[in-house]
Amino acid sequence: MEKKQFQAESKRLLDMMIHSIYSQKEIFLRELISNASDAIDKIYYKALTDESLQFDKDSYYIKIVADKDNRTLKISDTGIGMTKEDLEHNLGTIAKSGSLAFKNENELKDGYDIIGQFGVGFYSSFMVADVVTVISKALGSDEAYKWESTGADGYTIESYEKDSVGTEIILTLKENTEDDNYDEYVDEYRLKSIIKKYSDFIRYPIKMDVTGR
Ligand code: ADP
Ligand code: MG
Repeated sequence: MEKKQFQAESKRLLDMMIHSIYSQKEIFLRELISNASDAIDKIYYKALTDESLQFDKDSYYIKIVADKDNRTLKISDTGIGMTKEDLEHNLGTIAKSGSLAFKNENELKDGYDIIGQFGVGFYSSFMVADVVTVISKALGSDEAYKWESTGADGYTIESYEKDSVGTEIILTLKENTEDDNYDEYVDEYRLKSIIKKYSDFIRYPIKMDVTGR
């Protein structure tokens, strides 16, 4: 499968995330939940003006599944989803990201406080994961795609099976080190406290399921 390269600036930000010694790595969850919520907002507003779409409140939610055995964390949403082009442009290019303010106002070497101040969006996943997989089906599309990256060396996109519209982000957690224990991100109480701290204001239900061990 063909490996595509990130835009040069994205690559720099990614490299910084991968090698981050930033202590507040937990903020990746805030970023992914906020993206999930934005995606549900988009389908919600579409439903307001498009009569063919019904907005059934109960079918819009964010779900977090922590798998302790496989050390994966999945954040899924029933939002608007992404087409193949969206995956490529929105996840491969820094200009599409909240990181834009970051890029304009700061040098990446000062990355530290910036992460807390602006948030670095989707790429913050790479602070805790060494593989990031995004499976998505866009509203109005018959096809779903899988985007996957192990970091700054690029990403792949392929066709994939997904029945419902929305997005799943699967993080394969990094191996633990002396300084960082990534197992905490599959721990139910730790996850709940991170969600309470940063995502309490999210308007959609956040469901959680923990499996394994
Ligand atoms: P921002 O949210 O500030 O735009 P991010 O880096 O967090 O920046 O996300 C980049 C883009 O990727 C988003 O603008 C959106 O288009 C797309 N995206 C990310 N996560 C999702 C998701 N769960 N569903 C749909 N689109 C998403
Ligand atoms: Mg975002």
